[in-house]
Amino acid sequence: MSASTETTETVSTSTTDAVAADAAATVARLNATFATGRTKPPAWRKAQLRALRRLLVEQEDAFAAALHADLGKNATEAYTTEIGFTINEIDHTLRHLDRWLRPRRVPVPLGLRPARARKVREPLGTVLVISPWNYPLQLALAPLVGAIAAGNSVVVKPSELAPATSAALAHWLPRALDPQAVAVIEGGVPETTALLEQRFDHVFYTGNGTVGRIVMAAAARHLTPVTLELGGKSPAVVEPGTDLATAARRIVWGKFMNAGQTCVAPDYVLAIGEAATAIEPHLTTAIREMYGTDPAQSADYGRIVNERHYDRLTALLSDGRIVTGGDLDRADRYLAPTVLADVDPDAPVMREEIFGPILPIVPVPDLDAAIAFITARDKPLALYAFTASLATKRRLTTETSSGALSFGAPNAHLAIPGLPFGGVGESGIGGYHGEHSIDTFSHTKSVLDKPLLADPLRLAYPPFTTRKSRLLRRFL
Ligand code: NAD
Repeated sequence: MSASTETTETVSTSTTDAVAADAAATVARLNATFATGRTKPPAWRKAQLRALRRLLVEQEDAFAAALHADLGKNATEAYTTEIGFTINEIDHTLRHLDRWLRPRRVPVPLGLRPARARKVREPLGTVLVISPWNYPLQLALAPLVGAIAAGNSVVVKPSELAPATSAALAHWLPRALDPQAVAVIEGGVPETTALLEQRFDHVFYTGNGTVGRIVMAAAARHLTPVTLELGGKSPAVVEPGTDLATAARRIVWGKFMNAGQTCVAPDYVLAIGEAATAIEPHLTTAIREMYGTDPAQSADYGRIVNERHYDRLTALLSDGRIVTGGDLDRADRYLAPTVLADVDPDAPVMREEIFGPILPIVPVPDLDAAIAFITARDKPLALYAFTASLATKRRLTTETSSGALSFGAPNAHLAIPGLPFGGVGESGIGGYHGEHSIDTFSHTKSVLDKPLLADPLRLAYPPFTTRKSRLLRRFL
C-alpha cells in the first residue's frame, strides 16, 4: 500500500470515527435531557414552539435567501409553502395543544366496574427527523413542531442537497431552541448512516422510497418505529364536461410551483376521452398567465436542484410531443414548464416519479379505464380529479387508494392542519400535521384505575364454579 493511500485511509477512518462519535454524543446528550423530564411539561413545549415562531418571523429574510440560493425559490412562494406554512402549523398546535394532551376517558364494561379508564399520551423520547431538499425548511420544521409538541428531544438532519437552508437551520435552531433538547446534524449519507446506527425512539423520514427502505431496515435493528413520507406518481384525472380552463390553471399552479419538485404535485394528467386534446391549449394559456411567454425571465419560476436531476429530467423530454415548453439552459439549471402529449403509458417518463416541470398527458377512453390505470400502479401520495360528476367522485373515493384524494385542487389538502398528511403503500407509512403529529410522536398509554375497596373481580378468580361461569358470561 502506498503512503498516500495509507494517509487517505487513515484520514477517512478517523473522519468516519468522528462522525460516529458526534452522532453518539448528540443522541446521548438528548437522551439525558429527556430522562430529566425537562421536555415533558406543556409549558416547555409551548415555549419552544413560540421561540421557533419568533425565529421564523425575525429571520424570514435569512431563510428566504437560503431557499432562493438552494432552489431559486421566489420569496412569496418561500413564505407560503415553507416559512408561513410552518408558522401556521405552530399556531394551530399552540391553539389546540392543551386539548390534545388532555387524557381521554373511555367507557368501562359493566363487569370491570367500578373503575376508570383513560388514554394518556406520553412522549416517546429522542426522535430523528431526516428531511429532503425540495421543501428543505418546511419538511425539517413541520415534523420538528410535532415532535416538540409531543414532548420529545429531537435531532434534525437536513438535506445536504439544499446546503444553504441546511446551514441556516444548523446556525439558527440551536440559538433559538433549547440546545440540550434539539440538535441539528448536517451532512449526507455518512452522517445519516451514523445517526441511524444510534437507537432512537422514532425515526421520521421524508424522501424517496429507496432510502426509505434503508431507514426502515436500520430502525428495525432497534425495533424503532418509523414514519416514511415518500413520493410517487400522483395522477390528475380530468373528465370532459368539467371547467377545463380552471382545471388547467389549478394543475399548472400545483405542478410548476418549485419547478415541479413537489412530492404532492400532479405528476401527469390522466385525461378521459376528448379532454386529452381539449385541455392542451388551456394548459399552455395557464403557463403563459403565470410565468409569461419566457418563464426563464420570470422571478416566480424556480430552478432544478442540481445537474444530476437536470440531466435525468431533460432525458425525459423525448417521451412525447411537446405541446409547450421544452426550453433548456443547463448552466442555469433551467427547464421550462413543459407539457407532453401523446405519451405512451410505458415510456420512461411514466415509469418513475417525474419530480420536475414536465407534465405528460395520458389519454384514456373512459372512467373505467382511468380507475384501472390508477389501481394497476403503486398507490399514489395524492390523487386529484377534476369532474362535475358526483358519481365519478364516489367511484374514485371507493375504488382507488391513495394517501389523499382531492377534487378540484392539487396540493392544497396538506395546508389543512386537521387532515393527516401521509402516504399509503409505496407512497409512505404513517402521517402527520396538527393532532396527527401528536399521534405520530407519542405513545398512547392505556391507564386503568380500579379501586381496591370493593372486589367484584373475585368473580373472575379461580376456583371456577358453574354460578361464576354463568355470571361471567353475562357481565364480561
Ligand atoms: P434527499 O436526496 O434530500 O434525501 C432525503 C434525505 O435522505 C436526506 O436528508 C439525505 O441526506 C438522506 N439520505 C440520502 N441517501 C441516504 C442513504 N443512503 N442513507 C441514509 N440517508 C440518506 O431527497 P430525495 O429523496 O431526493 O427527495 C425527493 C423524494 O422525496 C421524492 O420521491 C419526493 O416525492 C419525496 N418527498 C416526499 C414528501 C412527503 O412529504 N411525502 C415530501 C418531499 C419529498
